Amino acid sequence: MGWDAGPGALPQGSYADLAGRWMTALRDGARDHIVPMSAAETTELLTRLAAELCAAAAPPPAPERAAEAGAELARAHLVGEEVLGRSLGVLGAHLAAIGVPAPRVATTLGAFANGYLRAFRAWLLAEQESVRAAEIAARRVAEEQLRASEARMRGVFAQAGVGTGLSDMTGRIIEVNAAFAEMLGYRPEEMCGMLVTDLAHPEDESGMWELYGALMAGGCDSVRLEKAYPHRDGHAVWTNLNVSLIRDQRGAPQYTLVLVEDISEQRALQASLRYRAHHDQLTGLANRSRFFDALAEAFAAGDSGVGLCYVDLDHFKTVNDTYGHAVGDELLVAAAARLRECVTEPGQLVARMGGDEFVILVPDPARPGDVAALAETVLAAFSEPFDINGQHLRVSASVGVMEERPDRADADEFMQAADTSMYWAKSAGRGCYAVFDPDRGRREHARAELSAAIPEALAAGEFFLEYQPIVPLAGDRIEAVEALVRWRHPDLGVLAPVEFIDLAEDNGHIPALGAYVLGHACRAARRWHDLDPESAPVISVNVSAVELADPAWLTRVENTLSDTGIPPQRLQLELTERALMADDGGPLAALRTLADAGVRIALDDFGTGYSNLAYLGRLPLQVVKLAGPFVQRIRDSNSADATDFVVLETIVGLTHALGFTATAECVETRFQAEQLRALHCDTAQGWYFHRPLPEEEVTELLERQRSGLHGFAAGAAGAGRWANGK
Ligand code: C2E
Ligand code: CA
Repeated sequence: MGWDAGPGALPQGSYADLAGRWMTALRDGARDHIVPMSAAETTELLTRLAAELCAAAAPPPAPERAAEAGAELARAHLVGEEVLGRSLGVLGAHLAAIGVPAPRVATTLGAFANGYLRAFRAWLLAEQESVRAAEIAARRVAEEQLRASEARMRGVFAQAGVGTGLSDMTGRIIEVNAAFAEMLGYRPEEMCGMLVTDLAHPEDESGMWELYGALMAGGCDSVRLEKAYPHRDGHAVWTNLNVSLIRDQRGAPQYTLVLVEDISEQRALQASLRYRAHHDQLTGLANRSRFFDALAEAFAAGDSGVGLCYVDLDHFKTVNDTYGHAVGDELLVAAAARLRECVTEPGQLVARMGGDEFVILVPDPARPGDVAALAETVLAAFSEPFDINGQHLRVSASVGVMEERPDRADADEFMQAADTSMYWAKSAGRGCYAVFDPDRGRREHARAELSAAIPEALAAGEFFLEYQPIVPLAGDRIEAVEALVRWRHPDLGVLAPVEFIDLAEDNGHIPALGAYVLGHACRAARRWHDLDPESAPVISVNVSAVELADPAWLTRVENTLSDTGIPPQRLQLELTERALMADDGGPLAALRTLADAGVRIALDDFGTGYSNLAYLGRLPLQVVKLAGPFVQRIRDSNSADATDFVVLETIVGLTHALGFTATAECVETRFQAEQLRALHCDTAQGWYFHRPLPEEEVTELLERQRSGLHGFAAGAAGAGRWANGK
């Protein structure tokens, strides 16, 4: 059967065979190509295309059908490298086998190949086109995203509350946000183009621009500092500044980005807190803590001296009490202003220590006497009255002056010394100054320590008594003994009463000390009384004015009398004029009670105080003791003049006229004893007769007196027989 018979000449089954061979050939050679069809679909396609090709090869030749079959093969994505070659091989062999003449085979296969290639190119173009479109779409998305992110960044940049700016590596500002521009009083566009250095400020720290230089050179990546910017109107805008370097992809510095936070308010607040921490609210002067800082600084400055005026207003409390605290405050403000004017030298500091106390620190006085001169200026400043709300107030000041820093004194000791000198000025009458004297300071310090030690010394039994006999100038027996207290101090030895009685008076220890003396003296008197009631002397005990003012004193004396059981007549209490004259009734009543009970009251040291003669008669007295100085003036015939005798005679005469007896103290010589006896003075005590003695020695004396071994007869002949006489 000839091929020319037409397309129907081949049975359908032959096309299936052909397609089977074709598929096998393709499968072997199309490994590189993924056929997007199943095997059944491929077989079906190839069967149809084989039929089409055979039909195209049958007369009349239809090369366009062959081309379409080729195109269809390519469109079915059978586009591997060897698809066309293997297809032509299988199809060519088949056409030749079924007898299609060679020229027609060539035409048909040529058309098939052309169709295939055309479709393949179209597919290839389409493929490429879709890749390009995808690429374009992807780039567009990326660009979109970049734009969005830039817009976001720009929004953040523009609207950030924090000032933001970008400058290039020449230091030129290329962008700032509104916050930064507003901060400095500009519009953003006005700032662009400025140089970073145009925004330098006199308060820029010295190392700041070096740091900026290092950043620009890429030496570091960010810098954080506090910087003041000049505002357009001239004032300083304080900022917290963060400068960071932006590098390009290769790491080269490209821009600097600054973030600027306005901290002017914060700094103002800090400054105000700092001010308040160092200044007195009321007067605006430096306060204590600032002063102590300055003092520490002055101390730390090595061997340069430190001077100080410690100023305390006199009677400020009275101003407060009389005119009220508002006026008091005004006065302090005015006083502070005057003190401020007193200071002319740089470095000197006026401070308020509190209340009405002020100090002027003179860190390094140029000449000795400079600080005292400053104190005089201060006193002069207070000489004019203050005009406070129409009130004319006169207020003086007492000034303690430290000309220098005492040896090795620390700040506390220095201030204590200044305070002490201020009190010296107060006790010298106020309205004056006193220069600190280290010797006096030491003495007072020692006295303060002594005073504080009294209670413990009492408990430890460090106090003891001596007894000084009081003898009649016209008799022969010890009539009385005066109890005199001493302190056996563990470090200082035996202390005389002058060294501690007034301390005990000032610091409230006198009632305890007085009770101790009274108890011991009365118990000694009791022992002498027990030995021989007849010869037992009167026990004379000194009572201080402070003690007398103690409401419990009377009961204490009464209890001591009843506890010891000595007759009241054997107790004599010696009181000074000061104690009796300053009396406001209470103590005198106590004395009267005791006098009524038989206790003898002696006026001690008569002539040294007020000597209010008229008052003497109204006191419940029995004895007047002539003060030592009167007696000392008639020590011997050379020292005495007629007036001294007249004075003594008058006092003894007055004493007798008032019904009292007279006792002379401090009799040291036979001359004195004889003269006093001639002046009819009743009794005497003194070294001429006896020194103050321990209890046992008095006991011995009394025993000798009882056994008649020892005479105390007055008169020219007897005087020589007085024991211990000089
Ligand atoms: P005062 O009451 O005038 O006591 C006499 C002082 O003269 C005593 O000094 C005594 O030792 C001293 N004295 C005695 N004879 C002579 C003498 O011939 N020449 C000289 N120059 N002095 C003589 P003392 O013991 O130092 O007492 C001093 C003062 O202390 C006493 O003066 C008295 O006021 C006070 N005092 C002594 N003991 C006590 C006491 O227990 N209580 C109180 N409140 N004061 C006392
Ligand atoms: Ca006395």
